[in-house]
Amino acid sequence: MDDCIFCKIASGAIPSAKVYESGRVVAFLDANPMSEGHFLVVPKTHWRDLAAVPAGAAAAADDAATIAEVWQVVAAGVAAAVEVFGGGANVLQCTGEEAGQTVPHLHVHVIPRPKGGETPPQFSSGAFRYASDEARAATAAKLDAAIAKRMQP
Ligand code: AMP
Ligand code: ZN
Repeated sequence: MDDCIFCKIASGAIPSAKVYESGRVVAFLDANPMSEGHFLVVPKTHWRDLAAVPAGAAAAADDAATIAEVWQVVAAGVAAAVEVFGGGANVLQCTGEEAGQTVPHLHVHVIPRPKGGETPPQFSSGAFRYASDEARAATAAKLDAAIAKRMQP
């Protein structure tokens, strides 16, 4: 999809603070984080949203492998968020404008909820601001390492 921002991130045409990447899936920090380390897990296949993903017999083996990896990265990412920030995490997927979807390429939000933070759910974009680009890069690097550890074959 030529005009899709997440396809452009997946192909590397637009930069992002990646925390995981394989041939099928990319994960990167959200540009308007709800908390420190808030990131998105995105299949490189362009599906509009979760409702557009083929399931059961309609799913080619390749599609099934992509979805399986998306959820493995979500699980690894939640575990990584707990390790890196303590506390817990919210997982959010918005399908459709009515649900708040703003980017029409499937993505799953992983939102770390550190101990002692504001009472969750704190679903307000921009609630967290990185002190600097370096602080943001350091956060991405910590998540990248923690996810990579869990995604080893
Ligand atoms: P949703 O409302 O579930 O569709 O979420 C879309 C998310 O994508 C929002 O949280 C945006 O902050 C985020 N977003 C949009 N463009 C970018 C970008 N270029 N890099 C990182 N995150 C982005
Ligand atoms: Zn796309």
